[in-house]
Amino acid sequence: MTSANLLPPSPITPTVDFDKDGVQHGFLRLPHSRDDSAWGSVMIPIAVIRNGDGPTALLTGGNHGDEYEGPVALFDLARTLDSKDVNGTVIIVPAMNYPAFRAGTRTSPIDKGNMNRSFPGRPDGTVTQKIADYFTRELLPRADVVLDFHSGGKTLDFLPFAAAHILADKAQEARGFDAVKAFSAPWSMRMLEIDAVGMYDTTVEELGKTFVTTELGGGGSASAETIRIAKRGVSNFLRHTGILHGKVEQHETRWIDMPSGECFSFAEDAGMIETMVDLGDPVEAGQIIARIYPVGRTGTAPAEIKAKLSGILAARHFPGLVNAGDCVAVVAVPE
Ligand SMILES: [Zn+2]
Repeated sequence: MTSANLLPPSPITPTVDFDKDGVQHGFLRLPHSRDDSAWGSVMIPIAVIRNGDGPTALLTGGNHGDEYEGPVALFDLARTLDSKDVNGTVIIVPAMNYPAFRAGTRTSPIDKGNMNRSFPGRPDGTVTQKIADYFTRELLPRADVVLDFHSGGKTLDFLPFAAAHILADKAQEARGFDAVKAFSAPWSMRMLEIDAVGMYDTTVEELGKTFVTTELGGGGSASAETIRIAKRGVSNFLRHTGILHGKVEQHETRWIDMPSGECFSFAEDAGMIETMVDLGDPVEAGQIIARIYPVGRTGTAPAEIKAKLSGILAARHFPGLVNAGDCVAVVAVPE
């Protein structure tokens, strides 16, 4: 018996039947007793579109509550996907950390839980840990392929890319990179995770599933272009896995790597950012990519942020003001 078998059952009740053919729109209902609702619940929207015993895809957005390409693409897909066009099952949870999504914040306003640092979760933990546990023990075991949408949120902006991780299991790794290629974002990333503890990604991959994640923009909103990329990407992902009929609509993609911690630059001072290069621009090791102005008085020199390696600017801090410790820039290396 593993320790997982000793855990109590999840407090979450689905209002959908995962084994029933057709289109169902319902909820994952999580009891949450609170001041304004004594016997209240968190109602997490879920759609299940099933047609027979084919493979199962689990599609998620809103892992962080202030990232919008995933929720926009998935609320749209849930509304428009017809079960007769499906071979197998598509499970759609457009806003995984639903309390965070409703608040428009990265983490949950209930418990400050960061969903992507809460896995594998706990059935007797906080609201965020209970949602994570339901994914780990109830939804992921049903899935063959998993797509989790992210963007930069309110504090980062990314080049639009889909990504999979470098893994010890090379067959599983190849399945991930094949699915990233099919997603057809303008950029495709081979990611080496430096701090993987508590991530949904890690839990999915440890269960042996094919996993694709994205970073499709940021700034706490979504553009027409990044929404188009998200919608096309999820359709391509489902075609690639054989769940949707039809050919993958392949677009040109450029592969990039984030080989080490040298990719990241962090602010050591608070102040106002002067961005010196834009997303996608080439940078050389040692080049000044941003300056941080102290804003208390005039006449003070700005701190210089230099690239530690050569490549392209893949992400940058979004708001105009930074604090010490903020991630200012990420440099990725094109293949
Ligand atoms: Zn995110």
